[in-house]
Amino acid sequence: MLVDSHCHLDRLSLKHYENGLPDAIAAATEAGVSHMLCVCISEENRQAVLDIAHKYHHIFASVGIHPSDVKERVVSSDELKQWAQAEKVVAIGETGLDYYYTKEHMDAQAVSFANHLNAAGDLGLPVIVHTRDAREDTIALIKEHGNIDSAGVLHCFTENWEMAKQALDLNYYISISGIVTFKNAEELREVVRKVPIEKLLIETDSPYLAPVPMRGKSNEPAFVKHVAQCVADLKQVSYQELCDITAENFFRLFSKAAK
Ligand SMILES: [Zn+2]
Ligand SMILES: [Zn+2]
Repeated sequence: MLVDSHCHLDRLSLKHYENGLPDAIAAATEAGVSHMLCVCISEENRQAVLDIAHKYHHIFASVGIHPSDVKERVVSSDELKQWAQAEKVVAIGETGLDYYYTKEHMDAQAVSFANHLNAAGDLGLPVIVHTRDAREDTIALIKEHGNIDSAGVLHCFTENWEMAKQALDLNYYISISGIVTFKNAEELREVVRKVPIEKLLIETDSPYLAPVPMRGKSNEPAFVKHVAQCVADLKQVSYQELCDITAENFFRLFSKAAK
C-alpha cells in the first residue's frame, strides 16, 4: 500500500491529460498509490472534494477551512460537525495558523482553528493542521482545544524538531511532503530521522510542491512515490516497508477510512 495522505485533487493541473482527473487518478494507481485523502480548504471547494471522494472508493475527504481562506465570518464548530456528516469524511481540516502567507485575520484564524479542534474533538475525528510561522500559537491552541485521543496531523511539516516533539507529545502525527527532497531541507531531513517511524505520514500536497526530480512541474498524487523513496532512505528501511508502515499509520489515525 502507498497512501497520499494530503492532496487537493480538485485543484490539479490537468492540461497534459486527455480525460482530466480520471487520468491523473489512473496515473497514481499506476505509480502504486492505493489510497488518497482529498483535503477541503474552503466553503467554495467543499462540494467538489466530497464529489470526488464519493466517486472513487479509494479516495477519502476532509471538511474544513484553510487558515489562508479564513474571512471575517468564521465557521462555527456546529457547522463543521454538520459538514462532517457527509459520506467519506474521515477528518476535520485543513485548519491551523498561517502567519507567513496570511498576516490578516490573525485573530479570526485562531478562532477558526479552535472551532475545528472542538468539532473534531466532539466527533472523535482527527484534525489536519497547517502551520506556518506560528509554532507557539499552534501548539497552545491544540493543547487548549484538542482531543488527545483523536489527535491529528501536522501536515506538510516544515518546522523544527522542537515543534515536532511537542506535537508528538500531543499524540499528533507528522506528515512529510516533497519539501523533504529539496536541496536546502537538511533541517527537515534531520527531523524525519528523529520522528518515530510509526508517527510518520507522507503526502504530496499536490498541486503544490512537486518533489525532486519533478520540481518545476505541477504536483500530482503519483509523485508521492518520490517522497516515499526519500523518507525510506532517511529511515534506512526499504521502499516497500516505508509505504506499508506509513499506510498503516494513515489508517490508524484516520480510523474512519476503510482499507
Ligand atoms: Zn496546508
Ligand atoms: Zn493542503
